[in-house]
Amino acid sequence: MFEIVFLGTSASAPSVHRGLSSQVVIHDEFRFLIDCGEGTQRQILQSGLGFKRLNRVLITHGHLDHILGLAGLLSTFMRWETIDKLEIYGGQWALDRIYDLIYGIVLRGAKPPMDLQLVQIKAGAIFDEDDFTVTAFPVWHRGPDCFGYLFEEKTRRPFLPKKAEELAIPPGPWRRDLVNGKSITLPDGRVIHPNQVLGSERPGCRMAHVGDVGRTDELIQVVQDVDALIIEATYMEEEIDMADQFAHLTARQAAQLAADSQVKHLVLTHISRRYRERDVLAEAQAVFPNTFVARDFDAFQIRRGECVKTEYVKQTPNSK
Ligand SMILES: [Zn+2]
Ligand SMILES: [Zn+2]
Repeated sequence: MFEIVFLGTSASAPSVHRGLSSQVVIHDEFRFLIDCGEGTQRQILQSGLGFKRLNRVLITHGHLDHILGLAGLLSTFMRWETIDKLEIYGGQWALDRIYDLIYGIVLRGAKPPMDLQLVQIKAGAIFDEDDFTVTAFPVWHRGPDCFGYLFEEKTRRPFLPKKAEELAIPPGPWRRDLVNGKSITLPDGRVIHPNQVLGSERPGCRMAHVGDVGRTDELIQVVQDVDALIIEATYMEEEIDMADQFAHLTARQAAQLAADSQVKHLVLTHISRRYRERDVLAEAQAVFPNTFVARDFDAFQIRRGECVKTEYVKQTPNSK
């Protein structure tokens, strides 16, 4: 399961109800902050997520509405909050701009408050963990080196406790080894093979996140069949010329991509304040009914074939 919590869902400039682009993807103990628009640190506090383990940032591209929040976040880390390590992943162009922001403006010769790494990525796998991977793929927008991110659980064979009981396998390290595909020898001398206690292969869930983007033809294969596609919808069809000019999508174009790639669910973000949310939703749903428009602090739990919107625990504002 992947969970995504939207921290900012506005395009280009904030609105009264929407902050600038940022979201957190959670998988077990892993957390990835995708983009960090201005004001993100306050959204992190308000969401109740906190800064703990928030030490991997994936940047979609270097436009200011996606990176300026890194300056404020670093500034806070210099004074109060502590984390051991911060890794910022992105294309070269985005990282050059982030380098200038952090080292030229925020630090100006001071030491970073943690082990700070700017990691240049290319298309391909960027994380390969025990049970999931994250892959970067190229995205066409204004400027070079823009990336989308594909989160995929690995195929796994579930452990069948009933079978283990039948075979009288005691709890503990033997069961773990079997789950990891190793044959074991029990204290009574019996040899048990993983096939005896594991069910048939189950594909994991898949979620794709695409930031700003002006063309969808190259994405049809990449996001094919994902359980949830998170993508921008900056414009509506009435302003398709502007969408073209600034390399963004209309809600209908995003929905057409979802339909063409047979994704299971579509979540739209990067919403312009010039439109009403329900109009954006209606335009997309006319093409792809399984569409949501994300709001700040919306959370979605994504499992195989499922994308369920949940209420994320928001910090209750101080009554003073
Ligand atoms: Zn943007
Ligand atoms: Zn942009």
